[in-house]
Amino acid sequence: MSLERAELEAMFERMGEPSFRARQVLQWLYQRQTTCMHAMTDLSKPLRQRLQQEAVIALPEIVRQQLSADGSVKWLLKLSDGNCIESVFIPEATRGTLCVSSQVGCSLNCSFCATARQGFNRNLTVDEIIGQVWRANQAWSARQPALPPAEAAERHAESAGGAAARRPITNIVMMGMGEPLLNFQSVVSAMRLMMDDFAFGLSRRRVTLSTAGLVPAIDRLAAACPVSLAVSLHAPSDALRDQLVPLNKKYPIAQLLAACRRYVGKHNRQVVTFEYVMLKDVNDSAAQARALARLLGDMPAKVNLIPFNSYAGIQYQRSTRPVMERFRDILLSKNIVTVTRKTRGDDIDAACGQLAGKVIDRTRRSSRLLQQQSATQPPATNSVSVSVSVAAARTEFALPASPRGVLA
Ligand code: SAH
Repeated sequence: MSLERAELEAMFERMGEPSFRARQVLQWLYQRQTTCMHAMTDLSKPLRQRLQQEAVIALPEIVRQQLSADGSVKWLLKLSDGNCIESVFIPEATRGTLCVSSQVGCSLNCSFCATARQGFNRNLTVDEIIGQVWRANQAWSARQPALPPAEAAERHAESAGGAAARRPITNIVMMGMGEPLLNFQSVVSAMRLMMDDFAFGLSRRRVTLSTAGLVPAIDRLAAACPVSLAVSLHAPSDALRDQLVPLNKKYPIAQLLAACRRYVGKHNRQVVTFEYVMLKDVNDSAAQARALARLLGDMPAKVNLIPFNSYAGIQYQRSTRPVMERFRDILLSKNIVTVTRKTRGDDIDAACGQLAGKVIDRTRRSSRLLQQQSATQPPATNSVSVSVSVAAARTEFALPASPRGVLA
């Protein structure tokens, strides 16, 4: 499953087979959800036997599933090396969005993000990325009655249709754990499979990559795989963004916005979505809304205001509803398309990195923070102990209640 179509075609040619075998195998794997080579009945018997012996189909295992009262579901997936990642599925009336991870942990250290607490462990492989889509598709299809044809048709009116019309995932966002542009080649190959008509068949408008702002890789993405682009902006000034998204020190806002302009310039009709997590008294003032509007004024942009998803041990709070509404209204009054994202999965730790963060702490970053804190202070009376059982394993660790300084 680590091969995109062009690579599979080359593989079959090397085996002395016609290249259309690649399309057949992709359809079996991704559209009929078959991983048994013997079941691929339009391939010759000897070829099936050879593939069964030589090809490896490795899929992550679902070790935990959390259903939210609002209908979203979060899967904790175990990889072959024991690492865990997570994917979140958000079903809505006319679409189903899957949020996919690109790395185990993350190296970017955004100050409000739960994944940052785990530090960085490793990049995901292509099959671990596309395997999240495969698993979600399988798990969701297994628990849902088949869609009535009219609804299925509506869901897929703009996508590939055919076998795709039965599938629940209509949109994919690379917004789970990790920075996708730091795992460039694997993420691009996996996204090509998401969009391949013989695999998941989504249009490029329905595949979104979210980045904290890795400027050179945004340009590479425009050339290699121009999917919809989302940028985690979160602040209208470099001074504040340096604190929230430390990558900003390397690629400040002006450079980032220039890269976004180049990206949409290459593929007109596209807009960049700017994500802006609403942090109480940090980035949510009227003046900051006006500054954001000035920054984005001349850009085909849409702003997604994300209510901060809180978790144990974090010092930030979600902005109040009236403050979020004021912020949105200022942007709207400056003609910037702005939506406030619905909070989904609050009850299932659906914020980036939250569930896996409770289960794995590979770099022991949280314990180090706790040790540093207890070395300089009396024992933390307000630390939060988290324990989660996953299958038979039980992991416990403590998160300090306030591991970072409160931002100005
Ligand atoms: N590294 C990529 C993708 C992963 S994070 C990026 O930075 O875009 C996906 C989005 O969720 C980002 O906008 C991130 O800033 C946001 N996010 C992370 N933690 C959050 C939280 N606790 N509440 C709300 N949004 C959060």
